[in-house]
Amino acid sequence: MSIELFKLEKTQNRVWFDFGTSRRLLPYFHFGSEFFIEYDRDISIVPDSILVIPFLTNILPIAWVLDAEIILPEIDEDFYKSIPEIKRGYEEMYPMISFRGKVTPRRITRNTKKSEGRPVAFFSGGVDAHNTLIRHLQEKPVMVTIWGSDVFFNDREGWLNVSEHATMTASAFGLDVVKVKSNFRSFLNEGLLSTIVTSSGDGWWRGFQHGIGIIGHAAPITWIYDSPSVYIASSRSSKDIIQGLTCASHPSIDGKVRFAGTQVIHDSFEMSRQDKIECIVSFTKKTHKNIQLHVCWESSGGKNCNTCEKCLRTILGIISAGANPDDFGLHYNAQNMILIKNKLHKKTKNLYYFILIGNYIEIWNSFNANNIILQYPELQWFKDFEFEKIANTITKRKTLLIHPWKRLFRM
Ligand SMILES: [Zn+2]
Repeated sequence: MSIELFKLEKTQNRVWFDFGTSRRLLPYFHFGSEFFIEYDRDISIVPDSILVIPFLTNILPIAWVLDAEIILPEIDEDFYKSIPEIKRGYEEMYPMISFRGKVTPRRITRNTKKSEGRPVAFFSGGVDAHNTLIRHLQEKPVMVTIWGSDVFFNDREGWLNVSEHATMTASAFGLDVVKVKSNFRSFLNEGLLSTIVTSSGDGWWRGFQHGIGIIGHAAPITWIYDSPSVYIASSRSSKDIIQGLTCASHPSIDGKVRFAGTQVIHDSFEMSRQDKIECIVSFTKKTHKNIQLHVCWESSGGKNCNTCEKCLRTILGIISAGANPDDFGLHYNAQNMILIKNKLHKKTKNLYYFILIGNYIEIWNSFNANNIILQYPELQWFKDFEFEKIANTITKRKTLLIHPWKRLFRM
């Protein structure tokens, strides 16, 4: 079986990929919609061997799990050499799946640049992305925001808000922002692809595509900006009390990607989400910069709903770091916190519950260390919650938390 890229079609700021596949692979693609990427600037100076990288980073996992050969006219040498290392990251993450397939370029091109320019940092507007931006602010990173990743094309209002937020953040920090529109999620048959990886316990997007699928979009930008590195913010952490949860965006995969002398860095994996919130809060206290967080993907329209679990968790995190959520684009309402209280008091014994506990324990430590109860006496239930006891149980039972991660937790 094969996937053949015939050629790259391009205009000044848009590239689309003319490709075909063996008959058996056809159902895995939505061929009515071609795969295209649009940048909000001129990409005509970017060599084809680099422009092809976002196509490859989204196709490679398909070729690996379906044992297909990718045939293409040309590839960047550094990227070509990094492919076996990226693949090894997947193999280690999903030992129950065999990763085969191969890449056959007609030409391997060595692209050299000085790599003396600014790095690139992906920016979605949330806690992880802001933390990465702040930690690398001295390097003046070029921000990159993608329409088609978490916000789909039919959510125009959502994109306008996300886009405006990125522009506002870039101008507050004196940075450049590159906006990218890409149908990298919708040109694939995500539902069908998910069915071939069910043994992993993950869906296609979360477990196999996002991570390198997003990262590839940066390759042409790094050529334009002569970037030495690309930062992609971690969402999980080495501090998580539940280890072994799988996700395609991980240091063992992202950190292996290289192209034309540029190295990808999976940033701040050593920090918990609460560490990141504290970093953001202390940055705003020091610099008096205004940071508006966009953490909610439950509501369309690109705004925080202040009622979903993620919004409430972030609100609690900001309070626990000794700051006012209203200063960060969120709003505290004691009544809404009952949702969290109910979730935590449910005390079920499945893994989702323990993931929930893991998400709150760092906030709870910070809440206690900063004696936040004095300011919010109505959160006494949170202070009294037996996080330590449950966390100890989880730590003792760690060995059960190997794949598949959806297995029920026996105690
Ligand atoms: Zn929300």
